[in-house]
Amino acid sequence: MTEPPALLWLRADLRLDDHDALAALVAAGAPIVPVFVWDPDADGEWAPGAASRVWLHHSLASLGASLAARGSRLVLASGATVDVLGRIAQAVGAQSLAYTRRYEPAQRRLEAEVARALGARLATRAYGGALLFEPEAIAGAAGQPMRVFTPFWCRCLARPMPRPVSVPKGPLRAPARWPQSLPLDALGLLPSVRWDRGITDAFTPGEAGAARALAHFVDHRLDDYAGLRDRPAEPATSRLSPHLHFGEITPRRVVAAIAARADGEGAAKFLAELGWREFAHHLLWHFPHTATQPLRGELASLPATASAAELSAWQRGSTGYPLVDAGLRELWATGSMHNRVRMVAASLLVKHLQASWRDGARWFWDTLVDADLASNTLGWQWTAGCGADAAPYERIFNPVLQGERFDPQGAYVRRWIPALARLPDAHVHAPWEAPALVLAAAGVRLGRDYPPPIVDHAFARKRALAAYSSWRGR
Ligand SMILES: Cc1cc2nc3c(=O)[nH]c(=O)nc-3n(C[C@H](O)[C@H](O)[C@H](O)COP(=O)(O)OP(=O)(O)OC[C@H]3O[C@@H](n4cnc5c(N)ncnc54)[C@H](O)[C@@H]3O)c2cc1C
Repeated sequence: MTEPPALLWLRADLRLDDHDALAALVAAGAPIVPVFVWDPDADGEWAPGAASRVWLHHSLASLGASLAARGSRLVLASGATVDVLGRIAQAVGAQSLAYTRRYEPAQRRLEAEVARALGARLATRAYGGALLFEPEAIAGAAGQPMRVFTPFWCRCLARPMPRPVSVPKGPLRAPARWPQSLPLDALGLLPSVRWDRGITDAFTPGEAGAARALAHFVDHRLDDYAGLRDRPAEPATSRLSPHLHFGEITPRRVVAAIAARADGEGAAKFLAELGWREFAHHLLWHFPHTATQPLRGELASLPATASAAELSAWQRGSTGYPLVDAGLRELWATGSMHNRVRMVAASLLVKHLQASWRDGARWFWDTLVDADLASNTLGWQWTAGCGADAAPYERIFNPVLQGERFDPQGAYVRRWIPALARLPDAHVHAPWEAPALVLAAAGVRLGRDYPPPIVDHAFARKRALAAYSSWRGR
């Protein structure tokens, strides 16, 4: 008699290394059927955006090749997850299903639905691996969810750091018969007009790309991370966020690599950034409504008055503030934006232009390759002052000073806004203040090659503070 296989339901765990669910199935010895179901409807309004789809395409291609090299396959399907998994289970005679937990509200509902609909036929088991610590494992003194980062992270650090689990490297047991699989192109993840080249020029999606990015970071960047991580012109950060989001590498593997090679300021700072990722998931797990509503609910009624034209100028990187525009153009070209610039660009949208943080979050959702509901929500609510441990609303970044401080030679601005490339350092962050002769010598015609500021900083600051205090005094 042939042994019934187990389904390995893959979502944001597109790797073979340090994979708890896979390790458990290998240890159990049953044949394994790895399945990915393309079911964007399950995510509702947070279905993967355009940049995420591009990444997903390449990541699935990479995982399929790795599985093939191990004598296995990646079965691709599309449709309602419960129906598809039920059909595949029946076709191969599976009796069990294993998967890695996710923490987004829609994916939690999906997990519950799978358990409800298929639990009677399939022994279903969820595993961790996407986080260092499960969101329920960390709590305040009275068992409550935590809302402030530092005590949250202290509690995490007080526990032993989890170690990667080992998955045997040999061939994976194949089932007696494979179910039908769609070709990858049939999922339609790549755009029909091919704008996506910038993403694959900037990143290598997939498990091997993730491992290389980690090794490069640990060997060449970690020592200087603490000093240079806020400099957008420097290749100082790990660029691991999309790899972590798609589960091509685990935070456990990252921590193990850091611990093996370094300690000191760079390592501690970097570890704390992974801590913010943990904190973001802790918050989204405990406060699932925050994907669309502020954690500080009282701030939901702050007025949002930005016009469609202002939002569009921000999206296109045409606000007239070079650091912000450089970031939004980097985002459009590569699917990524440096963290410091994300904060300044988000602040300009929410405070200077008085837009809702949700408008910015949605734009990032569509354009970021690392778009992640937990981290994006945390980042936007932090900037807008309405989230956990958020910057106070009254803290309003000055985009010119931020540019002068973190991009002092203007190298980042020049890279993404070639029209400003020949401006001297002293004027590159505020071209409208440059004398006419300087502008002419640099070949910049303000209003034609590059816009004047969309709003005056001092005016915008006053307006935001006035709006905030009149809202508080209601
Ligand atoms: C408005 C806004 C929106 C954001 N949206 C996202 C998002 O959708 N997805 C996302 O992964 N990050 C988001 N971030 C956080 C941060 O900008 C990125 O994680 C970081 O820029 C990724 O680059 P890196 O991998 O080189 O980071 P590194 O500096 O090398 O940090 C290492 C890892 O730590 C994690 N990390 C670092 N900073 C943060 C942070 N502030 N919050 C949560 N995790 C963090 C990431 O997983 C990152 O890969 C957002 C930040 C802001 C201000």
